[in-house]
Amino acid sequence: MTYETVIGLEIHVQLSTQSKAFCSDSIQFGSAPNTQVSAISLGHPGTLPRLNKQQLDYAIRLALALGSKINLRNTFDRKNYFYADLPKGYQITQDAQPVCVGGEIEVIVEGKPKKIRIHHIHMEEDAGKSMHDSDDPYSYIDLNRAGTPLLEIVTEPDLRSAAEVDALMTTMRQLVRYLNISDGNMQEGSMRCDCNVSIRPLGADYYGNRCEVKNLNSMRYARKAIQYEVQRQIKIVEAGGTVAQQTLNFDPSTGVTTPLRSKEDAHDYRYFPEPDLPPVVLTEAQVAAIKKEMPDLPKEVRQQLVTEYQLSEYNADLLTVEPEPARFFLALAKATTSYDAAANLMINKILPWSKEEGKPLTALPLSYAQLAEFIALIEEGKVSNSIAYQELFSAMLNAPEQSAANLAQVNNWLQSDDEDEMSNWVETAITDFPDKVKAYQSGKKGLIGFFMGEVMKVSKGKADPKKVNQLLRERLG
Ligand code: ADP
Ligand code: MG
Repeated sequence: MTYETVIGLEIHVQLSTQSKAFCSDSIQFGSAPNTQVSAISLGHPGTLPRLNKQQLDYAIRLALALGSKINLRNTFDRKNYFYADLPKGYQITQDAQPVCVGGEIEVIVEGKPKKIRIHHIHMEEDAGKSMHDSDDPYSYIDLNRAGTPLLEIVTEPDLRSAAEVDALMTTMRQLVRYLNISDGNMQEGSMRCDCNVSIRPLGADYYGNRCEVKNLNSMRYARKAIQYEVQRQIKIVEAGGTVAQQTLNFDPSTGVTTPLRSKEDAHDYRYFPEPDLPPVVLTEAQVAAIKKEMPDLPKEVRQQLVTEYQLSEYNADLLTVEPEPARFFLALAKATTSYDAAANLMINKILPWSKEEGKPLTALPLSYAQLAEFIALIEEGKVSNSIAYQELFSAMLNAPEQSAANLAQVNNWLQSDDEDEMSNWVETAITDFPDKVKAYQSGKKGLIGFFMGEVMKVSKGKADPKKVNQLLRERLG
């Protein structure tokens, strides 16, 4: 029997607001444990939560990007459970009337586009963080994360493989970064997902029982957990059993999923409307105002690079994976009209610089005008491509206060179009290799490349390749 994998995701995105969802505590990552807590995030009696407007705006931004329907009236609910890292005894979330319903996101899997439907998106707050293995037998609790604003994106069970899950998470991360609503950093827990996995005979029109693997915070783990889970479920079904609906934990060190709880002992969260928060009531005008300020979406920017700036699909992809390079390119393209050259400069020099230095592109000490000048020097044949890339660019980084032309001048990198000088170089190359001259003259015309290389060596890259080629052909006959 051939089986089909069916997966639906619950993706948690931590929002990059300044403060928590319902109070002014900071959410700065990496602060000392338990320094970012207040009576409100601890839910002390007498305190009242108040909604962070930014969280709502970010939810709407995401909804607009995914084509979701925005519920102009939406409400908060209490989800009650007891756990040490949840000092209030409940989590504020949206259950009955979430902020957004429906929508879809397109992912590319093995070169083919596929649409994944969104069930809904809701706002909620995160719990604190428990650390169980740092100091056995003790458990530590850091409440800095308690109350951090989250969006939970729940998809329909439209995914059919770990590769599709990977594509969806990657596309979602790219989207939230373009929207400036989250850093999308999985290692720091800014994006994590619960994977609901089931199997069914290929072609079946019903769904099998699903198991939910909790809190996967890396794509590698998600992939492994899904693979393990699919095999486990197939074994059960093949042996004539039925898969029990369960919540599972994935242990990356063993690659195995283990039950946290079964359907029978599932939590009864006793949801009820959050009495301390009024319903959120939005107007069409508020939504329109957020729509007006929407950043460009990755797909739109990629399309713009291909159609407006005539970049290859390949280069457009490279430059739009992350929003910063895309924005940098668009700004640079205002300073030059040599778009291809600008893309090459970014891909071969500027992006590697940022990676090696561990600095954002905005920290590059060169202005767009200076970069445009660099490009112009190559395009106008004043500096050879190889000298520009091998010497001039780093010289500019070392002396950003000087103009590119000036640096090329003082370092003697300007390409020579002096006929005499060039003839001398050609002469040297030819007299040094009489055998090769004979071979060329008896028909091995491919040797022209060899002589070109020699002239470039002798001239230290300064000879204008077009002129050299012409002179060589004349001289060799
Ligand atoms: P609940 O309300 O019990 O949490 P939902 O219907 O909200 O269940 O589904 C939660 C998640 O599980 C969604 O992402 C959904 O796509 C996914 N899901 C539902 N049924 C299945 C199934 N049979 N196989 C895989 N995923 C499923
Ligand atoms: Mg659910």
